[in-house]
Amino acid sequence: MNIDRKQFFKVLAAGTVATSGVSTLFARERKLLPKNAVGILYDATLCIGCKSCEVECKKVNGMSGVFDTKLEQSHNVSGIWDGGNDLDSKTLNKIKMYRNGTSSTKDKETNGYAFIKRACMHCIDPNCVSACPVTALTKDPITGIVQYDKGACIGCRYCQVACPFNIPKFEFDKALPEIVKCEMCKHQLDKGGIPGCCDVCPTGASLFGPVEKLMKEARRRIKAQPGTKYRYPVSSLESGETQTHTVQKYISYIYGEKETGGTQYLILSAVPYEKLGLLKLPEKSAASTSEKIQHTAYKGMIAPVVLLGGLLYAAHRSTKQDSTE
Ligand code: SF4
Ligand code: SF4
Ligand code: SF4
Repeated sequence: MNIDRKQFFKVLAAGTVATSGVSTLFARERKLLPKNAVGILYDATLCIGCKSCEVECKKVNGMSGVFDTKLEQSHNVSGIWDGGNDLDSKTLNKIKMYRNGTSSTKDKETNGYAFIKRACMHCIDPNCVSACPVTALTKDPITGIVQYDKGACIGCRYCQVACPFNIPKFEFDKALPEIVKCEMCKHQLDKGGIPGCCDVCPTGASLFGPVEKLMKEARRRIKAQPGTKYRYPVSSLESGETQTHTVQKYISYIYGEKETGGTQYLILSAVPYEKLGLLKLPEKSAASTSEKIQHTAYKGMIAPVVLLGGLLYAAHRSTKQDSTE
């Protein structure tokens, strides 16, 4: 078996060309917001912390555990709250509270308090979708809703690790556990309705609508003069219902506009977002970065494979020539 230098470099060059072709094949553009994407604008300055949205979320999604009925019966009272402190496998939506010092003034960072609603952000380029090895999590191409298929899920929980917002929860207490997260009440939307949390919110703090219009609404609020009156749409941008409230001094930034490539759940606040537990995240989606790393790994694996294939082919030809000479 003889392979001369010329043959060796020919095979090496072929391997390099093949490798760069495969790399280009795997590369993908940053994902964009679907034209008709829907979302939720949560305005923390309007939220009164009533938790009606939490209760309705459980109701319309058939989740248990809103009120502890056993305790209610044993104490002969009603309304004993049984909500945890955070999202869990029975809670898709959680209102949390920020408190500082005397907690005397709403929407103030110092000696103040504020509310924040946590739920799936419905990322434009979702890490959970990218990480799921069996496409149990997918992004609807029309609405952009990140949805879950329990039939496809193998329970690996990669989505839990991949989500930068710590959203998906796992039903550890069940024999056949599923991943649990907000799917923007798509079953309600399919019937022409709106998400339960927006439907019941008494102040319009949770507002449903097309993402692009919600973004414009959020920008209008940020530009509005603090202290002036503003007509806030309630429940849905399309509902036509409004309430007039005094504009607070908003942080001049919409949380979700850029984080990890943008999200369809947008947040406004008068208190700095990091105080509300919302992380500063890079603008580039981690999904595209991790996929690139994966592709680099493929690249590293494919080059030797192609090279080995070439060398074997050259060896085969050389052996053939040796035997016929
Ligand atoms: S917030 Fe987490 S679970 Fe929701 S779409 Fe984004 S990555 Fe997925
Ligand atoms: S959109 Fe539906 S599932 Fe999501 S937080 Fe609101 S009520 Fe819950
Ligand atoms: S229903 Fe509206 S006001 Fe009440 S806690 Fe939820 S978002 Fe806040």
